[in-house]
Amino acid sequence: MDLAKISHHGAVNGVTGSCHELHIDTNNSILIDCGLFQGAEISPNGSHHEQMAIDFPLKSVQALVVTHVHIDHIGRIPYLLAAGFDGPVYCSKATALLLPGVLEDAVKIGFTKNRQLISKFIRHLKTMLVPLDYAEKKQLVLNKTQQTLSIKLKPAGHILGSAYIECDIRDAHAGQVQKIIFSGDLGAPYAPLLPAPKSPYG
Ligand SMILES: [Zn+2]
Repeated sequence: MDLAKISHHGAVNGVTGSCHELHIDTNNSILIDCGLFQGAEISPNGSHHEQMAIDFPLKSVQALVVTHVHIDHIGRIPYLLAAGFDGPVYCSKATALLLPGVLEDAVKIGFTKNRQLISKFIRHLKTMLVPLDYAEKKQLVLNKTQQTLSIKLKPAGHILGSAYIECDIRDAHAGQVQKIIFSGDLGAPYAPLLPAPKSPYG
């Protein structure tokens, strides 16, 4: 099995705009986060909307996985939908409850004040959300050569609902497994409200 490819569509030269694409072949990939660029990472050239544009093809993207609801990890989701993405959005149960409210606020500030448009967007977003339990295994991709891509969310201890993502790419024929972890943002131990993140097995 070839090594899985990862493309970074943000959080490359700095820490905001988190958006990563894990490819298992040319026709199948998943996105992890779709965040907004903030602060010094917004270049002085280019318009607001150019900064937010989804400038990569979405044809192969089968799903979006969200680590947590900070805006530098989710803020470009409205643009992702506008660019045509209509797949499932996997996240923790708490994130699924928080995400519509946080994005509604972000859309009001950055996009439009039109109530009808906003509630249409939020209603549609809610139909795309697939809440997962922590450690629940979910298969997102099965390709033509019987390779599978599964994920598990693990508590990241960063904010309510935050998760790091364990991805398992399995090749049944070759009997091989690749494990790839997207950390998102991690919290520290001994925080008063959230359990500390646990290192992944292996
Ligand atoms: Zn964060």
